[in-house]
Amino acid sequence: MIIKLTEFFRNLPKKQCKECGNEMEEQHECYGNTCNECLHIIDL
Ligand SMILES: [Zn+2]
Repeated sequence: MIIKLTEFFRNLPKKQCKECGNEMEEQHECYGNTCNECLHIIDL
């Protein structure tokens, strides 16, 4: 089955936090896949 690249990228799920799984808006790349809340916890 061939999927157009445009369709593929459009269907990509929103970025999810790897810690809590919450959807997160696009952040600075340095934030990786962790939301601000989890980052704050990790930073402690
Ligand atoms: Zn999180």
